[in-house]
Amino acid sequence: MIYPIVKFGNPVLEKPAETVTVFDDELKKLIEDMFESMYVAHGVGLAAPQIGLSRRIAIVDVTFKEDPRAKLILINPEIIHTEGRHTQSEGCLSIPDFRENVSRPNKVTIRAQDIHCKVFEKTGEELLARAFLHETDHLNGKLYISHISALKRDLMKRKIRKLMKAGEW
Ligand SMILES: [Zn+2]
Repeated sequence: MIYPIVKFGNPVLEKPAETVTVFDDELKKLIEDMFESMYVAHGVGLAAPQIGLSRRIAIVDVTFKEDPRAKLILINPEIIHTEGRHTQSEGCLSIPDFRENVSRPNKVTIRAQDIHCKVFEKTGEELLARAFLHETDHLNGKLYISHISALKRDLMKRKIRKLMKAGEW
C-alpha cells in the first residue's frame, strides 16, 4: 500500500511520536509499505508521522534502491553520539519544493531496535548522519526548518500559507 505523504501544517508532524512496543506482522507490513511509499515519493528517508502515524518508526535508504544493504529500519531510535559539523542543503518530503542549508553534526551514532525488537547501534557520516538526525527529529515532532534562521523560516511559512490559500499545498 502506498501512503500519501502528510504535509507541513498537519499537527501530526509537530508532536512527539509514540514508542513502539509490539513487534508483529502488522509492523513488518507497515515498514514494507513505508519503503514503497518513500521510493514513490523519491525520498531517502521517511518517518511514520509523515504518513500520519504517530509511532517511533523511521526508514532510511541513502542509496535510493541501489544497495539493498543500505535499507535501514529504525524503531524507537535515539541519537547517542555526535561529532563535527557540516552544512548542506536539506529538504523534506513533507515540505515539498523547498530546500535550505542546514548545519548539523557530521558523524552520528544512533541506537535503535530492528524489526525483531533487537537493539543495535550504527554510526553514519555525511548524508547518512544527516538522515539519522532528520528522521529522529521527525519522531520528536521537530522539522528541519527549526534548524534554520527565524527570518528564513518565517519567509518559508509565508510562502506555504500562500500555497495553502491557493489550494496548492
Ligand atoms: Zn523530513
